[in-house]
Amino acid sequence: CKKDKLLKNIPFIFYTATYTDPKDEEFAFSLGAARFILKPQEPDAFITIVHDVLNEVKNCSFVDNPPEDKPEIVILKQYNEALVRKLEDKLLETERAEKVLRILAEKLQKEIDERKRTENSLRKSEEKYRTIFENVQDVFYQVKLDGTICELSPSIKYHSDFSREELISSHITNLYYEPDDRKAFLKKIKEIGELRDYELRIKTKSGKIVYASINARLIFDADGKPDHIDGSIRDITERKLAEGELKASEDKMRMLVEGTPHFFFYTQDANANITYVSPTVEKITGYSVEQWLGQNHWFVSNSKINALAIERAKNHVEGQITSGPILVEIIHADGNMVTLEVYEKPIIKNDTVIGLQGVAHDITERKKAQSHIKLLNRSIEQSPVSVLITDLLGNIEYANPKFSETSGFSENEVIGKNPSIVKSGKQSQDFYKNLWDTILSGNDWHGELHNKKKSGELFWEDVIISPIKDEEGIVTHFVAIKEDITEKKKMLAELIEAKEKAEEMNRLKSNFMANMSHELRTPLVGLLGISEFMIDEYEGECKANAEIIHASGIRLLNTVREILDFAKLESDNLSVSLSVFNLTKLLSDEITLYKKTAARKGVSLIEKYSTEEMLINSDERLLREIVDNLINNAIKFTNEGSVTVSVSILDDKIAVKIADTGIGIHKDKHDYIFEEFRQVSEGMGRRFEGTGLGLTIVKKFLHLLNGSIEVKSEIGAGSTFTILLPYSNSLLNANKITKRDEHKHNANVTSINTKYKILLVEDDAINCRVVEAMLQKSYNVVSVNNGYNAIEEAKNQIFDIILMDINLKDKLNGLQTAQFIRKIDGYENKPIVAMTAYASSNDRDEFLSSGCSHYISKPFSHKDILKLLNDITG
Ligand code: ADP
Repeated sequence: CKKDKLLKNIPFIFYTATYTDPKDEEFAFSLGAARFILKPQEPDAFITIVHDVLNEVKNCSFVDNPPEDKPEIVILKQYNEALVRKLEDKLLETERAEKVLRILAEKLQKEIDERKRTENSLRKSEEKYRTIFENVQDVFYQVKLDGTICELSPSIKYHSDFSREELISSHITNLYYEPDDRKAFLKKIKEIGELRDYELRIKTKSGKIVYASINARLIFDADGKPDHIDGSIRDITERKLAEGELKASEDKMRMLVEGTPHFFFYTQDANANITYVSPTVEKITGYSVEQWLGQNHWFVSNSKINALAIERAKNHVEGQITSGPILVEIIHADGNMVTLEVYEKPIIKNDTVIGLQGVAHDITERKKAQSHIKLLNRSIEQSPVSVLITDLLGNIEYANPKFSETSGFSENEVIGKNPSIVKSGKQSQDFYKNLWDTILSGNDWHGELHNKKKSGELFWEDVIISPIKDEEGIVTHFVAIKEDITEKKKMLAELIEAKEKAEEMNRLKSNFMANMSHELRTPLVGLLGISEFMIDEYEGECKANAEIIHASGIRLLNTVREILDFAKLESDNLSVSLSVFNLTKLLSDEITLYKKTAARKGVSLIEKYSTEEMLINSDERLLREIVDNLINNAIKFTNEGSVTVSVSILDDKIAVKIADTGIGIHKDKHDYIFEEFRQVSEGMGRRFEGTGLGLTIVKKFLHLLNGSIEVKSEIGAGSTFTILLPYSNSLLNANKITKRDEHKHNANVTSINTKYKILLVEDDAINCRVVEAMLQKSYNVVSVNNGYNAIEEAKNQIFDIILMDINLKDKLNGLQTAQFIRKIDGYENKPIVAMTAYASSNDRDEFLSSGCSHYISKPFSHKDILKLLNDITG
């Protein structure tokens, strides 16, 4: 066109999508193009370009690009070349596009195949899941948040008995055993979005509980809001029940392992270090589980038993399995010994010992009990008495060796037999019946059995048969403990015989003593009476001789009295006769008696009484003899100085002290002097008269009077004897009354009453003379020498008083005579005084109860008889 004159000013625009190469742009401009625009072009931009070109033409600013001045052929050639090039490019491009297309097509095909396969597998998968959905035991479900069930696998029927159809669209709480549980479930799933193994209790149609494990997820809608819940329900009821059973079984096992108080279980590793020990170990050994773990010394002692135990444990570690228990001795934390019986075995895995396991039983108490039983057993086996154990029928189950030794039957000969095997038949049927009745009623029987040995020899047994009871108190056996007492019985019989003989001898001795007393006292009546009379009547040498006779008589009388008292004490023949009397007066009287004797020795006798009167309830005769003995001794053993008698009250006791300034007694002898016949100076060299019985009698008399005696003495410093007597306050009132009576009485002692007539019954002529001499000044005395004459005299006249010798040798004795006289009118209440040389208090009581009203013991002094008669005549 540019070559055409008419067209050459018309601008043209090269607009191409094909010639995009810069050379093409160059070629276009070489052909006279106003612009070169590549397709596609935005319409607005394209119009703007066209407008620009048109404006350039209008404004004549358009520059006409004349085409290069080339021949047309060149241009065509260039054009063709460009065209060929373009064609080649296009071809190449087409080839490439073809290639790409082929690849794409293949890819497409592949994708199609893939999709088909996917669809296929999807279908299969869906079928599979549906099958699973419909057939698996777990229940899959979908439920809206408001609780409406959208989907549920049919297996729900299997677990709940509800069909799927029954539940779809219903509320999910129909399946809850506890509907309130849903709130907690919802709260939790909303919090964390997904729940795994969440345990829920669901309910069957019949209301039974089913334990379920829930896996569930909260599903959101397109807007991200919670929409529904997908989940599965797994029935775990069986597992739960099994778990419960397992737990119960575990608890049982734990209780067994950890709760049994006397056992502990343990395991050890291959080095025997403790790896487990049950907690009871602490109670048994005192060491905590922590102290036990990791060690292998077991807190054992260094004993032989433990050496064996260590050996056994080594064997186990080496894989040996030994039988029987191991004994182990452990030192308890408190220091005591604990004995364990251990059963242990190796734990073997793949032929290798990986440890040990065992159980240890505390047998400390059992061991003690066993040794106790052994000891008892030995005691019975070695017992010096026979032991038999029988069943309830009396069949012997056990006999100890002593039984065989005693009876002559061996153990084999008696087992299963009845104890009657040794029965002698000497005891009655009733005797054995009583025995059986006693033991069958559950009581002990104790008695003596006269039995027969195998040899036929008879023997005696002291037997205790006791029923043996079990824990419920039921008698299961009898045990007989039997002691052979044949010898003992023989000895006892001999002893009884000897005792009877001794008693007979004693009686004879007492009689002898009484007779001796009588025979010794009777002549003393004359001796003392006449000498006393002579002392009063005569002067000078005659009086002095009479005094010697009198003193000797008194000494003899004292000796007789002491021997008699001692004999009576020995034969327990002495009885106490209590009365209330004034002790102070008794002491005064005694001192008066000894005044002369003391004066002769130049010893002063001092009285010290805190009270003028001291009434006491005691035996006057015994107390008089006690004091007499002590004052007599004090004067006897004092050569110069004084003897002081004092009385005082010490707490609840009356204390009478007889203190002298005499020779004193060595400390060593303070107890010894109270023994019978003991004197400080004894044998041929003894320096003082006496029998050595005085203090013995004093002590024994005081014992009878509930009193006691103490001595304080030193050689050369004198002695003090203190007698202590029980004191009674109640005597204080009696004190005053007696005081007045005493005055009256004292006033009468010396008064002489010649009015009274006395009948003296005495068969001993000397005694008769003596008494007559004593009384003739004060009384009218008629004497007779036998009972008949006395009765005769009494019938003839009434006497005021009768003095009756008891030991009259004629047919009637004094007592019989007194009893006759009592029957004579006017003598019913007359005083009859028994006079006798049988001086015991028993005798006196007998006389007083057999007709006599008063009593005086021979020999008596002038004063004694006058005092008695004054008392009677009042
Ligand atoms: P007897 O006086 O008859 O020898 P006793 O039994 O009365 O017997 O006394 C035993 C002994 O105790 C006396 O022999 C004497 O050695 C000693 N004895 C007793 N009383 C006293 C005393 N008051 N002073 C010193 N010795 C005494």
